[in-house]
Amino acid sequence: ATTVTSILSVDTITVRFAGLTALDNVSFEVADASVHAVIGPNGAGKSTLFNVISGVYSPDAGTVRFNGTDLTSRAPHAIARLGIARTFQNIALLNTESVEDNLLLGRHLLTRTGFVAAGLRLPRSRNEERRHRARVREIAAFVGLAERLDIPVGTLPYGDQKRVEIARALCLEPALLLLDEPAAGMNAHETAGLAHLVRDIRDELEIPILLIEHDMGLVMGIADRVSVLDFGRLIADGTPNQIQRDPEVQRAYLGV
Ligand code: ADP
Ligand code: MG
Repeated sequence: ATTVTSILSVDTITVRFAGLTALDNVSFEVADASVHAVIGPNGAGKSTLFNVISGVYSPDAGTVRFNGTDLTSRAPHAIARLGIARTFQNIALLNTESVEDNLLLGRHLLTRTGFVAAGLRLPRSRNEERRHRARVREIAAFVGLAERLDIPVGTLPYGDQKRVEIARALCLEPALLLLDEPAAGMNAHETAGLAHLVRDIRDELEIPILLIEHDMGLVMGIADRVSVLDFGRLIADGTPNQIQRDPEVQRAYLGV
């Protein structure tokens, strides 16, 4: 038997909102070096799951462990510092600022001297800023935005804006990346490019990815493993092949 190392362990998580159980005793493991997709109909609890993992919500029951560290009830910035970066379902960038400045902001959690020192132009912070700018350029090149650094984010095509969001998350140098419906609103060409980028992040940067996605073609093409939520319950967990043949998944999707 082979041992698969898990980087994230979601263990019997329950989240209730007034009168509604958004997540009901959900457990699964994200293996290191993998793309793990979370799928399910609208309202299934996918974004709530991300909000629990990233510390936006604390669960009513259960624990989330990251490399063995219990994340439950830690603040979002503390979880980000531990190495979990995320993008949001709706783009959350500074539209009038350049790609470069958006990415530099993405690194602010890593800076030791912080913005106050940067404002005073202390020598140490100037060196730090140089290092950050160099790294931001590398990351922009990795996601295919090397030629777009000076352009205000709001004027970029939608697919490129999504790349900026992913790049900004990568600026945290994460050990795990959470992507919430990155292909939503993308055309077929942009979606194909995204699939390529997600694979490159896994294979070249060796960062595991937990991916919420509606586009089944994309999920089945790039995921190593798929977890299926329906009305807050985990109804299936397996390889893309197993998931596609699962009768309960077909029921949930076909509404039979
Ligand atoms: P998904 O991302 O799978 O579409 P969500 O996790 O956003 O689903 O939502 C799951 C359920 O929880 C939905 O019924 C949604 O209306 C509800 N919900 C999500 N966030 C909140 C909240 N902050 N307060 C109340 N209900 C919420
Ligand atoms: Mg959602």
